[in-house]
Amino acid sequence: MANIKQPMGIQPEGSQRYTGKDALRMNIMAGKIVAEIIKTTLGPRGMDKMLVEYTGDVMITNDGATILNKIDISHPAAKMIVEVARTQDQEVGDGTTTAVVLAGELLKKAEGLLDQDVHVSTITNGYNIATEKAIEILKELGEKITIDNEKILLEVAKTSMTGKAAEKSIEKLAKIAVDAVKIATSTEDGINSVSKNDIKITIKEGGGLEDSAIVKGLLVDENRASDSMPQKIKNAKIAILTNSIEVKKTGIDAKIRITSPENMQAFLDQEEFMLKRMIDRITNAGANVVICQKSIDETALHFLSKAGVYALKSVSEKEIKKISKVTGARIVNMALDLEPSDLGKAELVEERKVSDEYMTFIEGCQDPKAASILVRGGTKQFVETVERALDDAIGVLIAVVKEGIICTGAGSTEMEIAKRLSVFANTLKGREQLAVKAFAEALEGVPKAIAENSGLDMIDILVNLRAAHNKDNSKNMGINIKNGKIEDMLKAGVVEPLKLKEQAIKSASESAVMILRIDDVLAGRELAKSEANRGMTRAAQDMM
Ligand code: ADP
Ligand code: MG
Repeated sequence: MANIKQPMGIQPEGSQRYTGKDALRMNIMAGKIVAEIIKTTLGPRGMDKMLVEYTGDVMITNDGATILNKIDISHPAAKMIVEVARTQDQEVGDGTTTAVVLAGELLKKAEGLLDQDVHVSTITNGYNIATEKAIEILKELGEKITIDNEKILLEVAKTSMTGKAAEKSIEKLAKIAVDAVKIATSTEDGINSVSKNDIKITIKEGGGLEDSAIVKGLLVDENRASDSMPQKIKNAKIAILTNSIEVKKTGIDAKIRITSPENMQAFLDQEEFMLKRMIDRITNAGANVVICQKSIDETALHFLSKAGVYALKSVSEKEIKKISKVTGARIVNMALDLEPSDLGKAELVEERKVSDEYMTFIEGCQDPKAASILVRGGTKQFVETVERALDDAIGVLIAVVKEGIICTGAGSTEMEIAKRLSVFANTLKGREQLAVKAFAEALEGVPKAIAENSGLDMIDILVNLRAAHNKDNSKNMGINIKNGKIEDMLKAGVVEPLKLKEQAIKSASESAVMILRIDDVLAGRELAKSEANRGMTRAAQDMM
């Protein structure tokens, strides 16, 4: 067992310091543990994790980023692996499990090399060389596609959702995701630009998935503030207000003055007068739709209805910002400050019934790129799962539409890179060769995990997959998880954005290298304590 050094004088009592090999082994261990947790969720047949929050709320998911976001991880090296997932999620929106599994495999292989007395700097150098080469190879494997290739786009969406949503709903969801991304994409000089911000997903439990729909514009989960308001406004001129439309009761002041019924009436008249002034300001500015972040007084609602204005109240700040962006309306604090130039525009604002709920549709907006997706389904858990699946699909579609390059999945790309990388390794002199080979083997960890999670014989599949890739024109050969056969994944329609693989390889390697370079861990009291609680320290010590 390794000797964990006692804290030196510079650190307070209760804190710990690990140096050299101890630090390294412990960090590798921590990183590997995180990757192991996530690994069983990889691929279409990956298992789910049940996450139980402090509040007792339960979430069932196999989304790598979601799991790592929710579990409480305190070890610094483990946190770096969590960071891999976060980066992947931000940059691509999918491929988080792949990235984490890869990082774990790289650490595992590094451990093997350390056991063979390969120096850590040789490993990190080799990993850096391998990363660069792997990306170069990856780029040779890509297939170009355009936004008009609907079939491929649908396949990309379906690949990312396989195993994340019910099989029979994937077809419909893929179509919704593709349509939304197409609406949100603008093309200039042959370059597509599209942002996730232009696509809003609204989930609403109730109804069935078949009630889910796409809206060219914005969908706000609010009904009009009063039934006497018009249900539909054409050529909408939209005002956005953050303050409430009401007269603030002035507490004590009012109490003193209101001493008789006449007084009371005068007070009410005055209040009404002030409200009327606000509404006049709104209508004089030309607004026929008012979106208010706070509440709207009953009397004000009455005036607004009389003026034929459609109003929404208590709209969240997030929604307000979105409406502002999409319609061009400027966000104004008080009704009395509203100017005609503050108004935004839309061809239509309408309240519509969706299943049994009323929602507001804002269509034909100034920003034509806006798209909203309404997700309906039986339970909260169901719609949340669908939301996460759609979010992944939209992420990969955006990556594909922007870059225009795809590669094949089901372990094919990882295997092909591994093969070419080990050929390249043979051209290297010195011990870096070992590290590059180890990197290649780490890549094989992806098809291996997919096979294992699908209940297939991992060793058999790997041998067959390797053999297949040694033939000509075999770069797209991957695992058919239903029968274990090795097939062309371009034909099977298991395709992913090249960007996903690129980001996964880059960030996995980056974090593995970063973890390997640490030779000193200075832990404050809190960390030492929490580690002890989790048995992490003991587990790490036991390993040594
Ligand atoms: P990640 O978080 O990395 O996206 P997933 O659980 O979504 O993890 O699994 C992604 C992996 O599953 C990719 O390697 C992808 O190619 C593979 N995959 C997706 N669909 C299929 C399929 N139909 N057959 C085999 N592999 C698939
Ligand atoms: Mg995925």
